[in-house]
Amino acid sequence: MSIYDQRPWLDVYDEGTPAGIEIEHPSALAMFRAAVRSAPDRPLLHYFHATRTVGEVDADSDALAAGLAGLGVSPGDRVAVFLQNVPQWMVTMLAAWKAGAVVVPVNPMLRERELQVILADSGATTVVALESLRPVVTAVQAGTDVRTVITTSELEYLGDDVPKLLAGTARDRAADTVDLLELIEAHRGARPPDVPEAGPDDVALLTYTSGTTGPPKGAMNTHRNVVFNAQTFRDWLRLGGEDVILGVAPLFHITGLIGHLAVAVLIPAPLVLGFRFDAGTVLDLIERWRATFVVGAIPVFVAMMNHETAERRDLSSLTKVYSGGAPVAPAIVEAFEKRFGHYIHNAYGLTETTSPSHVGPLTGRAPVDPTSGALSIGVPVFDTMVRIVGEDGQDLPAGQVGEIVISGPQVVPGYWNKPDETAHALPAGVLHTGDVGFMDAEGWFYIVDRKKDQINAGGYKIWPREVEDVLYEHDAVREAAVIGVPDDYRGETVKAFVSLRPGASAGPEELITHCRERMAAYKYPRQVEIIDELPKTVSGKILRRELRGRVSG
Ligand code: AMP
Repeated sequence: MSIYDQRPWLDVYDEGTPAGIEIEHPSALAMFRAAVRSAPDRPLLHYFHATRTVGEVDADSDALAAGLAGLGVSPGDRVAVFLQNVPQWMVTMLAAWKAGAVVVPVNPMLRERELQVILADSGATTVVALESLRPVVTAVQAGTDVRTVITTSELEYLGDDVPKLLAGTARDRAADTVDLLELIEAHRGARPPDVPEAGPDDVALLTYTSGTTGPPKGAMNTHRNVVFNAQTFRDWLRLGGEDVILGVAPLFHITGLIGHLAVAVLIPAPLVLGFRFDAGTVLDLIERWRATFVVGAIPVFVAMMNHETAERRDLSSLTKVYSGGAPVAPAIVEAFEKRFGHYIHNAYGLTETTSPSHVGPLTGRAPVDPTSGALSIGVPVFDTMVRIVGEDGQDLPAGQVGEIVISGPQVVPGYWNKPDETAHALPAGVLHTGDVGFMDAEGWFYIVDRKKDQINAGGYKIWPREVEDVLYEHDAVREAAVIGVPDDYRGETVKAFVSLRPGASAGPEELITHCRERMAAYKYPRQVEIIDELPKTVSGKILRRELRGRVSG
């Protein structure tokens, strides 16, 4: 019998948590339209000193949708969003949906080659980019289907009420670039294009992830996936119109997409954005806007706690504090609670589960596994089928360690144009997470290991192959293998083992710089160790496990 048949976790649910939910809207856009009808004057975005209401965001996204259609964006087209956490993110997402398009979120830290992979794979025809990132798009545009580049700067959307905090906002636009605000103003008052309404099975987002098998692929988060998990956030965490959401997670990542953008639109409730999220800014924003809800990866909480002004801060407005995307050390939860009086709840999910599949109930504390020391990731949210399976795919009972497999309304139907990868990770629609863990007798889940090679640097995921490929481009490198090693701040960081070609010479610093220049900042190795020979199997496969053993001693 599978643990799902027993579902002991239902007893862990808080009083009042429904055991199942009705999906309230056929699409994420319908969800926003309901918000426009019910609360048009409610603030939806706070950014620096300015505020935009639900109705204002609706009007701006109508105009932008008309503008996108005028530029040739048609239903089913992909619109890539290459922005930091700025208000334009939400306006662009809604406008793309109003034009019938699919949103492709792109991490603004990506460098050229990384961006190119996503643009080419998704077939995006339009990119909305931060002005400062225009050169990165220009460098790769020729090899993609991108016809239109729309740019915007960090502060302009909120107009005169935003102080000019950043220098260098003077316009120096490439001639073939469309300005986002000019596009909105040119279509102000126009009706959004007349396109068929998206349904629950239509793709809302193509979120790129290395998944369990490496090369980036676009998880197809459907409108059902998005609405279901926005409702999960709202209902599980008891969020309502009085809540103020702090947008510290990157908006391109599924946690930010759902836990910030989608849930703000669903309730609707104001989302506080801060462009740059250093610890001081996070603390300022909580105090200034009396934020009640924060979800982010653990380094955010560590940085807040260690900030020099932490002791003087008033974080009394917070009522719901959640961490997700990476393991949480119980010692950090304890230290944070001591400093600020708030318990950090752990939550777990993947890009493929459109954000959380497991959450710690709001009123309770999650247990710690005495053997591994792992803090529980919580219990499965409503309507979610979770099993633990062994090597042969057999169901394992409570207490036994195996791979976590998940199906439910939040699980994506597959990857964009990747039937083989889909069949591998999602056979029969069931997600094989690559995470290894167990369920205890009461229904709490724990992660104790990983089947996949992925490295998790405080929520940022790195695929070793990507880093190794870059190392192999260096003339001196004969062989390279990359693993995750423990790191105080991020939990894990990247270490490379390298052997050099005969007669070649290169030091660790040189190899680190080589990588830093070619990839997003969170990916390059922080440590390089040069060794004579990498350990291998008889068939010549590099033994990563042995390298991990070397590090752990
Ligand atoms: P992503 O697709 O970027 O959301 O990454 C998903 C992966 O992050 C999962 O497969 C886990 O390995 C890891 N992860 C997410 N949440 C947690 C958590 N609370 N504890 C441990 N690992 C987590």
